[in-house]
Amino acid sequence: MAVVVTGAAGFVGSAVVRCLLDQGRSVVALDRRPQRSTSPGVRPLMADLTDPRPVIAAQVGRALARAEAVVHLAGCPGVRDCAPDVAARRQRDNVAATERVLAAVMPGTPVAVATSSAVYGGAHGTPSSEDQPLRPRGGYARSKAAAEEVCRHWLRRGHLVTVARPFTVVGEGQRPDMALHRWVTAALQGRPLPVYGSPARSRDFTDVRDVARALVELTDLRVSGPVNLGTGVPHTLGQVLSAVAAVTGTAPQLQLEPAGLDDVPATWADPTRLERLLGWRPRTDLPDVVARVAAELSGGAYGFPLPAAAALR
Ligand code: NAD
Repeated sequence: MAVVVTGAAGFVGSAVVRCLLDQGRSVVALDRRPQRSTSPGVRPLMADLTDPRPVIAAQVGRALARAEAVVHLAGCPGVRDCAPDVAARRQRDNVAATERVLAAVMPGTPVAVATSSAVYGGAHGTPSSEDQPLRPRGGYARSKAAAEEVCRHWLRRGHLVTVARPFTVVGEGQRPDMALHRWVTAALQGRPLPVYGSPARSRDFTDVRDVARALVELTDLRVSGPVNLGTGVPHTLGQVLSAVAAVTGTAPQLQLEPAGLDDVPATWADPTRLERLLGWRPRTDLPDVVARVAAELSGGAYGFPLPAAAALR
């Protein structure tokens, strides 16, 4: 039996695949994009979860029905996406794909579905806990709230669904649209760092390695219902920018740009439930995460401790 990871070619998905391989587990790596790398123990399955063609749907359905567990990370991420077709992509990849996965999995098979901290609509002076009402702001957050509604439907039918709410995930393999990727790239190239809103805004930045480990452990524990994947320790964007400057040995200029309306001023996880379930909580060491991202983006030229930035240009 294998664990099926959907979105396995993506940022969080590839970390989950690595985590499972480190534990000696077999993985079916499902994604509509090709996998970043191949390894023994991984069976790639290149398919779109929402493909209506009977042959593809049957192939996907078989893999999901036979799974030991499923970590569902396929989705349309990003709050700032404003392409004309974004609403349709969010509906297809965040909502319809979740429905497809949950309908195909056997009732006793544990499934972790990644929704998002965006369902809370930001934190207002206190950390967000799982039992508080959802206030999704914007199309991305609303599509994740709709995915949670799909999860609740299957939970009511007795399925084992962890509704995992990751808070801003950081680490190697980040998508190019994510802040840390853009900032480290700009610092390495000697360009100003684009900052949306103000450096005083804050996020509960969560290390991708901890997010991956938590997702695997939550499915192993067959947890049902919503669980925050965050540290409980928010950092300001300014703190991350300082870490980028320190790690890259640069003194970058900031280029302030307006924040989007749906880009909330602060996020902050209450990780009490996660810690009670797992016996540990994610901890983010910002300089370490920034150094890992810098090492990746500079093609391995960066070690830790780091050489002067000038040597990299
Ligand atoms: P990503 O874009 O790097 O990975 C998503 C992967 O899913 C991609 O490889 C894509 O090809 C695949 N995919 C999308 N729709 C698919 C479909 N219909 N069929 C098959 N494959 C499909 O995104 P990520 O940052 O790794 O995020 C993973 C999940 O976690 C997403 O659902 C995202 O909304 C959620 N999330 C991410 C963060 C974060 O900070 N990265 C925070 C909260 C929630």
